[in-house]
Amino acid sequence: MKFDAPQFRSEAEARKYIEALRWPGGRVCPKCGSIGSEYETKREGRYRCGAKECRKDFTVMTGTVMEASHVKLTVWLMAFYLMASSKKGMSAHQLHRTLDVTYKTAWFLAHRIRAAMANGGLTGPLGGPGQIVEADETYFGKVENPRTVSTTGRAFVKRGSGPANKRAVVALIERGGQARVFHVAEANRETVEKIVRENVHPKSRLHSDESRLYTKVGAELGSHETVKHSAGEYARGDVHTNSAEGFFGVFKKGMTGVYQHCAEKHLHRYVGEYEFRHNTRTKLGFTDAMRAQRAVEGIEGKRLTYRRTNGAAVA
Ligand SMILES: [Zn+2]
Repeated sequence: MKFDAPQFRSEAEARKYIEALRWPGGRVCPKCGSIGSEYETKREGRYRCGAKECRKDFTVMTGTVMEASHVKLTVWLMAFYLMASSKKGMSAHQLHRTLDVTYKTAWFLAHRIRAAMANGGLTGPLGGPGQIVEADETYFGKVENPRTVSTTGRAFVKRGSGPANKRAVVALIERGGQARVFHVAEANRETVEKIVRENVHPKSRLHSDESRLYTKVGAELGSHETVKHSAGEYARGDVHTNSAEGFFGVFKKGMTGVYQHCAEKHLHRYVGEYEFRHNTRTKLGFTDAMRAQRAVEGIEGKRLTYRRTNGAAVA
């Protein structure tokens, strides 16, 4: 049983575990940043900042995605673990049943954990001299407000930018490495070029299908090689987009099987969740426990972003 580790057994152990991850060099006051000046209050796990002008109380949850939540820390950690270890994701319904919390609480746990997973551990550009970065885009589901409709009112396919009534996702995947994935309003050349320029090392080898979206930006990189999917060519030597296809496979299965009713405004959060698991996958040496820990390490400072877009309800 995975939940035998000490941090799942008691609130005190759970707090110790999260505190060690969040404050490896001593407790930091989330309000003023003073380190190690705090003292304990009568309430276990609540500290008071010792800095003269501050004196604010804080806990390990203050200033994190867990702030103001009444959910037990052990339950939080189990939710982190479940979401980190479920390859295709875990629905709020499943969390609700597995953790025996209300559906509403499960929904908030899932959204906040997704926020903690956002951009987990990514630094610098993808690729590098001679390194392969695959670029690909996919379309699925339905957009809530179709952007382009014909005079008959039916959405139509715009050349080079995919079906107009589908949600578009663009992926950049370093061969054997990290992924960055983007939900875009429309996968047109301008959008895709910007994403490539901002995220790919200019000396990388870019691999894509024959899509003309990448022709111009590809010429700015170390090299740009394509496979012609429309002619049944999926690999030529080491030129292929199989890593991107693999990522999209898991993503789409999860989005249709697990997260069936994701609003488009939340889609980037789900995209980030799959990206996080890809970037901490078993092949890169991560166990489920390490991946869950990496997610917990992301709790810091993401609360405001979350609140701004999701209103003030607290689980
Ligand atoms: Zn302080």
